[in-house]
Amino acid sequence: MNIVSTIAEVRAEVTQQRALGQRIGFIPTMGYLHEGHQSLVKAAKRANTFAVCSIFVNPTQFAPGEDFDSYPRDAARDQELLESAGCDLLFRPTVEEMYPRPTVTYVTLDTLSTRLCGKSRPTHFRGVATVVAKLLHIVQPDEVFFGQKDGQQLLVIRRMVDDLNFPVQVTSVPTFREADGLAKSSRNIYLTPDERQRASILYRALTAAKQVVDAGERDGQRVRQHLLATLSSEPDFCVDYAEVVDASTLEPLETIRGDVMMAVAVYVGKARLIDNFQFHVSG
Ligand code: AMP
Repeated sequence: MNIVSTIAEVRAEVTQQRALGQRIGFIPTMGYLHEGHQSLVKAAKRANTFAVCSIFVNPTQFAPGEDFDSYPRDAARDQELLESAGCDLLFRPTVEEMYPRPTVTYVTLDTLSTRLCGKSRPTHFRGVATVVAKLLHIVQPDEVFFGQKDGQQLLVIRRMVDDLNFPVQVTSVPTFREADGLAKSSRNIYLTPDERQRASILYRALTAAKQVVDAGERDGQRVRQHLLATLSSEPDFCVDYAEVVDASTLEPLETIRGDVMMAVAVYVGKARLIDNFQFHVSG
């Protein structure tokens, strides 16, 4: 795996690979990688011939007081995990390389970025959309890969790519989970052993609420209450939201039908954990 840190280097390498006939798959990440990220690299490698991964902890998607400074980092381990997943090129820029001067140009999305996580993180998706737009212009991949774990992020990127005609295919990869259902996340490192053990409540709440829908419940408010009731069995966890929304607009559903996203965000000690299920309800 080749490792580069400048925009000029990554462009030169990708241009050369493209001239050789390679199809480029791209996986943007913030590092501190785990099997979830590896599953994205493997998917990129299966559908393409050359996989490019970026590791960049993007300051513009963190608000003051959030965990930008303490976000976990382990360059050597990340490198090993990427090599073993089959990554061909790692782009690891500095903040100065990506933002040589204060940005005045942003990508913002109406409505989509103000719902769910956008309520407690009002500038987050502007930062995400802007850095992904920059990375897509830098790497110019044929296909870009995102995890379903960050369901709202995936929707924001799909919509940006669609609205602004980015010439790239967006592909999603299922959430990689621990044995007890907890979605793998770099931020799980913030959990104490006791919190970690109890953190599977997010998955258990989503699973139980989905069973209620499968049994025929179509009232969005009752399913929301069901999610909250399960989550409240861990009273020291603080629920940020528990929602049942339309998967393409993120608007709360009164009646559950069509493409549905059931999403939760919970403060567990120092961590804020998110998870979601997406499914289709016909009729
Ligand atoms: P991050 O480094 O957390 O910004 O994530 C980089 C990419 O990996 C995003 O597209 C995430 O949705 C994806 N990702 C993170 N955790 C998982 C997981 N457990 N399963 C699948 N994809 C994931």
